[in-house]
Amino acid sequence: RAKEQGKNTFQFFNADMNSQTVERLLLENALRQALEKGEFELHYQPQLSPLRGELLGVETLIRWRHPQLGLVSPVRFIPLAEETGLIKQIGAWVLREACLQMARWDAQGVHVPRVAVNLSARQFEQADLVSMIDGALEAAGIDASRLEVELTESLLMQKPEEAVLVLRQLKALGVTLALDDFGTGYSSLSMLKRFPLDTLKIDRSFVEGLPGDDDSVAIAQAIVAMARKLRYTVVAEGVETAAQSAFLRDNGCNALQGYLFSRPLPAAELPACIDRLAVAAQREAEVEYAAL
Ligand code: C2E
Ligand code: MG
Ligand code: MG
Ligand code: MG
Repeated sequence: RAKEQGKNTFQFFNADMNSQTVERLLLENALRQALEKGEFELHYQPQLSPLRGELLGVETLIRWRHPQLGLVSPVRFIPLAEETGLIKQIGAWVLREACLQMARWDAQGVHVPRVAVNLSARQFEQADLVSMIDGALEAAGIDASRLEVELTESLLMQKPEEAVLVLRQLKALGVTLALDDFGTGYSSLSMLKRFPLDTLKIDRSFVEGLPGDDDSVAIAQAIVAMARKLRYTVVAEGVETAAQSAFLRDNGCNALQGYLFSRPLPAAELPACIDRLAVAAQREAEVEYAAL
């Protein structure tokens, strides 16, 4: 009986696997076609200096404009793109498009100093990653110093020795390197120092509790202080309130990013957003001046 049950379970499991495989194939096909049909689009989220509110750069965040589903979040399709390897083609498109967009803004007289692009682990294994990035910059005529590449701790820690070599090549190209979601991984700061990183992005989970929660305050202060001592540029992610922004400014963050300033926007909406942010920063400066 037990054997029969076992057999049934096995068959059930097998059937389930099949439907999963079918679903995966369907999704994989849909992703591939999305790339061919041009259904992916890039949104850009401003990163601001906490003192003057000046635009330091934007982070590129991909979306899938699905004809039936509407705008699909990257958390829903990037993992599958990674599993299937399609991330290589998608990632290459993201890099090319982000560089071309920078050139378009330049041509329009819209000043966007730097664009950051997220890289996934599978892309990082690509033998031609460095030449692909070089090609994207070249095709757009954009200086490498205006491109920042965002990596995660888990990506770096998979094969640390090989990662160091790739990072050195990227540095030689002239791009800057940021560590995304900092604090959520497992690596120590001393370990991190082996990688030639420029920027640490403090994860949103540490920003959330500021400034009311004592533990969040202690962690955020310690991260910023250590990171600054180690000469990293520190960016805070997920800044949603004026109180969080003031706290991070007063504690030495170099750049702020979050819904408080702007959600990620389509390229066409960025110029108006930059103007609005400049006006807001000016007004705030006047208020602070009047209070002196
Ligand atoms: P991430 O790189 O850590 O990006 C930050 C995420 O936080 C973005 O979500 C952004 O929209 C969101 N965010 C920004 N400010 C706030 C805020 O104030 N509050 C809250 N609650 N959220 C905020 P998004 O766009 O859904 O992207 C999710 C993740 O998908 C990214 O996390 C990144 O890991 C990945 N991703 C996005 N675009 C790409 C891409 O082109 N390539 C790869 N490989 N991964 C990407
Ligand atoms: Mg990122
Ligand atoms: Mg992040
Ligand atoms: Mg994150």
